[in-house]
Amino acid sequence: MNVSKKILFSTLLGGLFLSLELSARTPIILIDPGHGGDDCGAKSYIKAKEREVCEKELALEISLKINKLLKKNFQSYLTRTMDRTISLDDRAQMADKVAADYFISIHLNAHENPHAKGLEVYYLDNHNNIAVHKIERVENKDLKGEIVVINQILADLVIERTAPVSKGLAQSIHKGLVSSVKKAFAQSDRGPKAALFYVLALSKRPSVLLEAGFMTHLQERELMADPRFQDKFAEGVANGITAYVKKNYKF
Ligand SMILES: [Zn+2]
Repeated sequence: MNVSKKILFSTLLGGLFLSLELSARTPIILIDPGHGGDDCGAKSYIKAKEREVCEKELALEISLKINKLLKKNFQSYLTRTMDRTISLDDRAQMADKVAADYFISIHLNAHENPHAKGLEVYYLDNHNNIAVHKIERVENKDLKGEIVVINQILADLVIERTAPVSKGLAQSIHKGLVSSVKKAFAQSDRGPKAALFYVLALSKRPSVLLEAGFMTHLQERELMADPRFQDKFAEGVANGITAYVKKNYKF
């Protein structure tokens, strides 16, 4: 184990002792716009913008809207507010820095099948679903070899502590999205699912990863670039988080 792995290991273990108990204070939420800077994420030509658009760009647009809505009721922060490169470790460390109670990562999906479409809400858990593994490979592509194995072991420890809260939060956000974008835009819905995303495990707190839709789907990518859809999507996420907090916090 080299120095950077040792740091990673101790950072992750340190966070295992964070309190998950209900509190009288309002929770702190960290919104994580996926990718950024050198990392474009998925890329597609968007007719409305008349150019190729990266996942990182739409993820930021949606995240800024979510953050604006959450700020009305909570302390809410973003891992990035502009187009800049930021590692998975940096994102996780930011969760410690702001003492986030929840970590919400925003992404847009891609698939070799151009007909694949629909929103997805993932929470951190162990599973054996091949389709989900495939998506993980895309979102986890920055990590390889030994580091993946170490992260996998540590992820198990984090999962044990956080999975029930992550699942409840994911279900509530999913419900919020069903009554916002599914209702307003008849968007397909692939439901809440368990998955193993390292950025979620590294955050060491209850966390959810959203895939707003597929950049590889001709109509859905135009929809996701539409500010009206982004507003509704943000509204669904914020409502879902608020509903979960109201149920679980005494404030
Ligand atoms: Zn992504």
